[in-house]
Amino acid sequence: MPCKTKKTSKLCTQTATASEYEKLNKIELLNIVSKLQCQLKEAEKSETLRKNESRAIRLVGIAYAIIDKNHQITTINETLLDLTGFTKKHTLKKNLFDYLLSTNDNNLIQKIKDSLQNNTNWQGEVLCRKKGKKFFTAWFVIAKFEDKKNKTEGYTAAFWDITRFKDNEKMLQEMAHFDVLTKLPNRSLMYDRLKQALTFASRYRLLIAVMLIDLDRFKEINDTLGHHVGDQLLVEASSRLSSAIRKSDTAARMGGDEFLVILPDVGSATNAAHLAQKFNSLLSSPFSLSGHELYISASIGVTIFPNDGSDSDVLIKNADTAMYHAKAQGKNNFKFFTEDINKSTVERFVLETRFRQALDKLEFHLNYQPKVDIKTGRISGMEALLRWYHPDQGQVRPTLFIPLAEETGLIIPLGEWALREACRQNKEWQDEGLRPIRVSVNLSVRQFRKRDFLSVVKEILCETKLDPKYLMLEITESTIIEDITGTISMLNDLRDAGVSVSIDDFGTGYSSLNYLNKFSLDELKIDASFISDLTIPENCRVVESIIALAHGLHHKVVAEGVETRNQLEFLRSNNCDEIQGYYFSKPLSAETLHDLLKKDPVFET
Ligand code: C2E
Ligand code: MG
Ligand code: MG
Repeated sequence: MPCKTKKTSKLCTQTATASEYEKLNKIELLNIVSKLQCQLKEAEKSETLRKNESRAIRLVGIAYAIIDKNHQITTINETLLDLTGFTKKHTLKKNLFDYLLSTNDNNLIQKIKDSLQNNTNWQGEVLCRKKGKKFFTAWFVIAKFEDKKNKTEGYTAAFWDITRFKDNEKMLQEMAHFDVLTKLPNRSLMYDRLKQALTFASRYRLLIAVMLIDLDRFKEINDTLGHHVGDQLLVEASSRLSSAIRKSDTAARMGGDEFLVILPDVGSATNAAHLAQKFNSLLSSPFSLSGHELYISASIGVTIFPNDGSDSDVLIKNADTAMYHAKAQGKNNFKFFTEDINKSTVERFVLETRFRQALDKLEFHLNYQPKVDIKTGRISGMEALLRWYHPDQGQVRPTLFIPLAEETGLIIPLGEWALREACRQNKEWQDEGLRPIRVSVNLSVRQFRKRDFLSVVKEILCETKLDPKYLMLEITESTIIEDITGTISMLNDLRDAGVSVSIDDFGTGYSSLNYLNKFSLDELKIDASFISDLTIPENCRVVESIIALAHGLHHKVVAEGVETRNQLEFLRSNNCDEIQGYYFSKPLSAETLHDLLKKDPVFET
């Protein structure tokens, strides 16, 4: 049977940006439609449409209908009934557009009719009706067919259910624009929104606030309690942020534990400050996750458009700078971007770069400060203190570079180096025949919390062959209270390994006395701030109490920062065990301490 289709007819699509599946199947679909037209003509005559219906068409699930010039349905296939759930009886003779297509979009139906009127076939996305007043999204193709005199005889409509494709498309869309974990807009959508906000704000002279929010201590939680808890924390933090903003604002996840909030019409910097404060308080209230009561906080950097930058990159960069400043100033706060902050950040950046190089070039060394036994007057131990010899600036004190090393994570390799070097040096002196004493090494919280910390300590002891009883580790109170359960188990492990532990700067943190007796500790070190002014009666009482507490728990007690005879006498009369401070000796180079240890002096206590 000869088949006549108008090959020249144009195909008009509903949307300019056709979906992938459309592109893939356009030619295929047109072929199917022409094939259908042949089949249907034939079928109309033979009335064996159902039998002749191509198996492939049925398999793919293409529904088709023939309609006459007045759009009345004259023929349908089984698939149409399968897809719509309608009966043949009800479908035949109905107007295709009224009966099968949704009238939600009258414009669309008019557009299709116009196309057909203009001799143009049409394809595009439509909403189809189905039984039970329901709808499904379909890809719809309609083409006319003509009689021998090229007069319009009717139309063939073919359509198929694309709900699955739409769902996939939606999912891909979401994946491209939203963060999978928190469901917040991701970096790319955030840039889009910020750009839009900038265009709008420039036109209407609005103030935009951009806030970069970085969670403090998130990494610790992730490292110690696992990614599962870390993920829950991020989800909860995101919902707290979202709850505090308006619909027109955007809270996006930039990656890791970093969020960015855009307030497209903040009104004033004061409003931004209020909101930043609100974020701080929302994020610092406890999180109850997987049976843990967790505390974090956030450091927030705020930039205002147009004051702090005119494009998104500059605004975000400056918010980042301000955020770092907030972090450096003790975390759990917010900072606005200012030129001064910018300057100090540049300096900090230079220092950080220099610091990384110093680590490579090993510009670090250790000084050692003796500890003196108050009863015997002899050196009972020494504390290893890191020093950085900067080629231009000379000696850099650890109070300057340790916080930087902690922030950047460089404290891990640096701290490990200090531990190894202190053990190696101590063992070398012992091998040389000097009287064996214990070396104390300071630890940062990041080292202590690292999963492999215990094995690193054991490895270093094994490598340097130092007897563990000659190593003491100094941790601070804040290290302890951040994760009490973790601390108890780590301190037990260290005790099992034969290593002693001291609490440094005792009295300045928030040690819970409840827990103090649960820790395997050997020493409490009274913070120098109490010693420096013993003319203040409160300080005297604190020192007396710490000594009594330490002895009650069978720990040794050391006073640091002892500079005067009076301080020494007060401590002696209160039974303090050991003294460390300028009164006896400043921190010394390895060579100088070596000479001192060789003399093994007895100090007058
Ligand atoms: P810290 O562990 O409390 O060390 C004692 C600090 O007090 C040292 O400062 C020491 O030089 C100083 N000091 C000792 N006696 C006196 C005194 O009589 N008067 C005064 N005014 N100061 C005295 P330094 O060496 O600047 O170290 C500061 C802090 O840096 C240390 O405090 C420690 O927390 C940290 N640190 C030093 N080395 C390391 C290290 O290897 N790793 C880590 N994580 N931290 C370290
Ligand atoms: Mg110390
Ligand atoms: Mg100290």
